[in-house]
Amino acid sequence: MNRKPILNILMAVCVVALAACTSAAPTAIASNNDNTTVVVPTTASVSETNTTVPTAEISNGISTSSNLACGNGSTSASTTLEVTEGPYFTANSPEHASLLEEGMSGTKLVVTGYVYDTNCQPVANALLDFWQANANGVYDNSGYTLRGHQFTDANGRYQLTTVVPGLYTGRTEHIHVKVQAPNGKLITSQLFFPGVTENDGDGIFDQSLLLSIQETNDGLQGEFNFVVPAS
Ligand code: FE
Repeated sequence: MNRKPILNILMAVCVVALAACTSAAPTAIASNNDNTTVVVPTTASVSETNTTVPTAEISNGISTSSNLACGNGSTSASTTLEVTEGPYFTANSPEHASLLEEGMSGTKLVVTGYVYDTNCQPVANALLDFWQANANGVYDNSGYTLRGHQFTDANGRYQLTTVVPGLYTGRTEHIHVKVQAPNGKLITSQLFFPGVTENDGDGIFDQSLLLSIQETNDGLQGEFNFVVPAS
C-alpha cells in the first residue's frame, strides 16, 4: 500500500493547524509590583521590528517599548542625551531618595534603574540630582520641595520616589535630573512619560528619554537607565 498520499494529507493538516495557532493574538503575563499578575494584550503594541513582547506594557493604554540602555546584554551604549537645565534648578538640594512629603497631592511614582558607563559597566556612587514641578505644575523655587539628590549603590542602582509632575505652560510632563559618575562629566537631562499628548509639541522632548512605565496598586512604576561617559 502506498502511504505517501496519507502522509501528504497529514502534513497539510499539520501546516493548517500550525498556521491557525500562530495567527492567534498573542498574550503575555506580566508581574505587577505586588506580585499579582495581569494579562497583557499585545495586538496593538508589538513592535514591527521586534517580535518579542515588551515587558513594560500593560492593558491600560500606557505603554512604551522596553529599550532600557544597556539592557538585553548590551556591551555599549550612547551617553544619555543632554538637554537644557531650564530656569528652575536650585543647587545644594538635600540628600534623599524619596521626595514625597506628608499631604503631597498627586500620583505616586517610583523610578528605578541604573547608572552605567558607555561600556555598560554599572557606576557605583554616581550622583543623581532630581528636581521637578508638583502635580499642579508648580516648582518650589524658594525651598527644596520635590528636589533631592542621591547616589547609586554598589551595583549602580538608584531608586527615586516622588509624584508624577504636572504640566505647566509650554512643557509636557518631565523630571529634571543631573547625573555624574564620581569625578566624571556632569550630564543634565530630563525624563519624560509615554502617552502624554503634550510630548508631541514639546521642543525638549526626546524619545530616548522616555521612562518605561507600568501601573501599580498605588501609582506608577518607572524605569530608566542613565549612561555617563566611561572614565
Ligand atoms: Fe521643568
